[in-house]
Order: sequence, then C-alpha cells, then structure tokens
Amino acid sequence: MNYVIGSYQNYVGGEWVEPKSGEYKEQYSTIDGSAVSKCPMSGLEDVEVAVEVAKLAFETADWANNPRKRSKALLNWAAKIKENINELATALSWQVGKPYKESFGEMMGAIGYLEYYAGACRTLYGSTTSIDEYTTSILVREPVGVIGVIVPWNYPITLLMRDMAPALAAGNTCIVKSAEQTSGITMKVIALLEGISEFPAGVVNAICGRGSLIGNALVKHQDVDMIDFTGSVEVGKDIMGQAADTMKKLSLELGGKSASIIFADADLEKALPYALKSIFTNAGQLCTSASRILVEESIAEDFIARLKTMTEALVVGNPLDQATEMGAMNTPVQMETVLKYIELGKAEGELLTGGYRLLESGLDKGYFIAPTIFLNLPFESSLVQEEIFGPVLCIQTFKTEEEAVHYANGTRFGLAAGVWTKDINRAMRVSRKMRAGTTWVNCYNRLMPECETGGYKESGIDRAGGIEGINKFTEVKHVCIDYAPGV
Ligand code: NAD
Repeated sequence: MNYVIGSYQNYVGGEWVEPKSGEYKEQYSTIDGSAVSKCPMSGLEDVEVAVEVAKLAFETADWANNPRKRSKALLNWAAKIKENINELATALSWQVGKPYKESFGEMMGAIGYLEYYAGACRTLYGSTTSIDEYTTSILVREPVGVIGVIVPWNYPITLLMRDMAPALAAGNTCIVKSAEQTSGITMKVIALLEGISEFPAGVVNAICGRGSLIGNALVKHQDVDMIDFTGSVEVGKDIMGQAADTMKKLSLELGGKSASIIFADADLEKALPYALKSIFTNAGQLCTSASRILVEESIAEDFIARLKTMTEALVVGNPLDQATEMGAMNTPVQMETVLKYIELGKAEGELLTGGYRLLESGLDKGYFIAPTIFLNLPFESSLVQEEIFGPVLCIQTFKTEEEAVHYANGTRFGLAAGVWTKDINRAMRVSRKMRAGTTWVNCYNRLMPECETGGYKESGIDRAGGIEGINKFTEVKHVCIDYAPGV
C-alpha cells in the first residue's frame, strides 16, 4: 500500500532496521480517517540495540569533541527540511490535522531551532576562576551521554528539534521516541539525515512504538543518561518516579492551563485577534494555549460580544484547504475527551458559542469540534482547572488586579500567562507575580529558539529553548589545577 506520508522501519546506527517482532502499525489521518503512514511497533530488544549503538557512538564517534562538525551537521539538516518544506508541511497536516499554514510554521520553527543551536554549540563556554596564588579551577561543560528524547504528537517536529537540536549540539547522542500517533511524520524528517555526512552513524537513532513499553524502557535503562520528555503531567510524574533507580538527569516539559489577563485599558484591536489565536491555534492542542481569559468587568460585555462574533466567523475544516483557519482533533479519543468536558461545561456554566462536533460537508470522517466558549464557570470547575487540550475557552471576569493575579495563578499548572494593558507599571507588576515560566505582555505564544520556555509547579522541570535549553544537556566538570611549587 502507498502511504501519503510513508512506510518506515526504525532508524538505528545509520540504517533502517526491522523491529525484532516484525510488527508494524498504521497511523490514520485526522482529516478523513485514511491510513497515511506505517511504522514499527518496537519491543524491548529494539530498545537494547538502540541504546548500545547510541552509547558506542557517544564513546567512539567523532562527535562529542567536535563542535564545528556538529554545527555543520545541524545546519545541513535544517537545509534539507527547507528544501522539502512543502511536502513535509502537507504530510504534517495529514497526520496532525492542523491547517497547512500552521504546519508550514511548525517546519519553520524546527529549522529555527536547528539553526540557533548550530550557532550556540560553537560557544558552549565553561568558566575559570582563580582560587588562590597557586590554584586555578576550570569549569568545563561536557555532554551528558545518551539522551532519550520523548516527544508528544501535537507539535511533533518543532518539539523534536527544540529538544534534540540542543542535545546534539552539546555533543550527546540521541534515541528519539516519537508519539505513536505521529511516528510517520517524525520518521520522514529523520529520513532526511541520510546523506548528511557530518552525522556519524549512531548519533541519531529513532524507534517507534508504545510509550508505556519502549518509552518506559528508555527511562529505566542504565545506559540512558538523561530523559528529555515533553508530554502530559501524568506521564511526566510516572517518568520522574521510574528514573529514580538510575538517578537519571531529567527535563520535563508538561501541560498547562494558562490564563491571559485583559485589563480595561488593553488595546482590544490587538488583544482580540490574539485571544482568538491563542486558544484556537492547532484546535487548542497546544501546551501554552490561553485556555482561560480573565477580563476586567468594566469591558467584559463588549470584549465577549466581539470575541463571540470573531469565533463564529472562524473557518473550520479540511486543513489542506487554503481558507481553513482551524483543523481537527488529533484522534477520536482526544475528540471524545474534549466533548465530555463540553457536556460538563454545559451543566456548570453558560455556553456562549460552539459546544458540538462538526459533521457536515464531509467533516464527519474526521474529528472536528466547533470553537467553543464558556462563561461564568465556577473557579473550581474541572474546565477551569484541568488541561482540556481542545478548542474550549473559559472566560471569567475580575474586578481588581489582585483578583486577576489570584485567579491566573489558581491552578496546579504554571506554564504561561498573558497580560494585556497599556500601563507599563501594571504590566511589570503583574508579569512578575505570574507563577509561570513565560509571561507575554501585549502578545501571546511568541515562542522562539532564543528564549527559554518551561514550567513552574506541575508544568515541569527545567527549560527548553535558549541557552538554558542547551546547558541542561551538559554536565559541569570542575578541573582543579594546583601549580604550587613542591617543597
Ligand atoms: P503523553 O504524555 O501521553 O505522551 C507523550 C510521549 O510520551 C509520547 O511519545 C508517548 O508515547 C510517551 N509515553 C507515554 N507513556 C510513557 C511512559 N510510561 N514512559 C515513557 N514515555 C511514555 O502526551 P501527549 O498526549 O502525546 O501530548 C499532550 C501533552 O503534552 C499535553 O499535556 C501537552 O500540554 C503536553 N505538551 C507540553 C509541551 C511543553 O513544552 N510544555 C509541549 C507540547 C505538549
């Protein structure tokens, strides 16, 4: 059978290899349910081989000690993605269900991370300090070793590169474990490595299969030195527990329930389109989605009425149609989860718009939900407190700055926040009070390679992006030199 995205084996040691079990699984399009790719269902033996290969490459290949070569390798990979960007973006839309222009943006994001870390890896400085007349201490950054990179399905390529590019740039070797739903597109990007001579065999390995089996095996493996995980809080917690036995380094980038605060003096001409995009991009399947809006009471009526009109004008449909502004849920399971939250919301609050699955014009073959807004949900409602990961926005009102801060910080998450005001003092005050890894002022979702992102509270541990995003893939070694004369 011909698959739109392709049929792949595992990529280990620079070669395509059959999973030991011989088992494969198809992935289905979110647009019409058709099979679009086929990837291995790997087992524990496949993990063993991949780890052995990655360890050997770390110890023997011309990689860990050659930053110039690493830089060139990353730049060449970026160039290959650029050359094939239209085909890759189309494949991504088929697999994930996001509109083509968002898929294109995702590929550009991946290129951005590769290029940024290609530069950063040549300036991965340590430091020195003079301790006394005859002692100098050198602090050197060294690669950690073998990194297990575990990726979710919602931004499978940008997130792959956000985490793997710095891991490689720092001199590590990697084993990628893609999400089951999106292995096809991941392997299509991995396949571009073929022919890039700067990548020694075994530096990048990618295996496909179930998270609870092969992801878990990577987490527990003695020879995997670090796990870089992006995904749900629940799996993140499980990984944290499982990693204790081998005392692995961990980076956990987890879920969120972020709030954007709209003060009465905000520039609504800018805030409204941002509010729309910050929840309905990728149909709400974005960790930093502003799935809560807190709007000051005095402007709430006008703000809500205008946002409702804009929401109802959104074009929802086939991601490959140029006009489409919002696409599909990634799986039927995800769609059902979101619909359950919607039913609960109808019982607990006021449905402003949306609140149903879209079935007309052939959309019944995919998993489409109308953009949905709820008002006046109680603060303790699970729609306000939990990550829905769908096109569902909860709007609440506030009277004072203190109340807005209290509501914004009032969940177990702490990934991101937004503040909209023309008052610079208030912007500074409130952004400093946000218990979140990122606060956007008069903008939202400006994610970029140069800048760190990550979670407070249950949204995670450590940072991705920026210099912190490469430093975490290093160990700091203290070399102490004593040059006192002998007596
Ligand atoms: P998930 O936690 O179900 O899965 C993520 C990855 O972990 C997948 O590759 C999966 O196969 C693997 N996995 C599952 N069980 C595992 C286990 N026991 N051990 C090791 N690996 C295992 O998450 P998802 O549904 O793919 O992604 C959605 C979640 O990811 C949302 O909560 C979202 O907010 C979060 N996310 C966070 C960020 C961020 O940067 N903070 C970015 C994107 C997505």
